[in-house]
Amino acid sequence: MASTYSAVKCANCGRSAISDFYYKTDEEYICCRRCGYHYSKTCKYDSANKKDYFEEVEHKGYGVISMVKKDGTRRMLLFNKKISSEDIENNKKLLLAENVDQDKSYFVSFEEGVFTILFGNPSENYHLTFEEYKENNF
Ligand SMILES: [Zn+2]
Repeated sequence: MASTYSAVKCANCGRSAISDFYYKTDEEYICCRRCGYHYSKTCKYDSANKKDYFEEVEHKGYGVISMVKKDGTRRMLLFNKKISSEDIENNKKLLLAENVDQDKSYFVSFEEGVFTILFGNPSENYHLTFEEYKENNF
């Protein structure tokens, strides 16, 4: 299906998120790799009333993990609820595994407007506000 990717300001953290917009159907998916926020607007069919409608689903972000393996594969994990101390312990263990490239991986929590780096070093881009990001990348 035809869609366009663009950078949009994240409604949750204010940094840059990625919007995937399907201009033929007006459907949209937004995913923030900074704080873990995601949003979807999809077209649904209401069979009782025989018409289409849009369903909007929004998940607040509480943090992300970007895990890069030594073979180059990357896994993103987005947290949609508060990160517990157990989550932190378990995921740190996973990040310390031998097949993980610790230099490129990171684990960041986002709570009440504050980013806290729990593991690793996010790239420079990660820290930019949406406006700064746009200036540097467009
Ligand atoms: Zn965000």
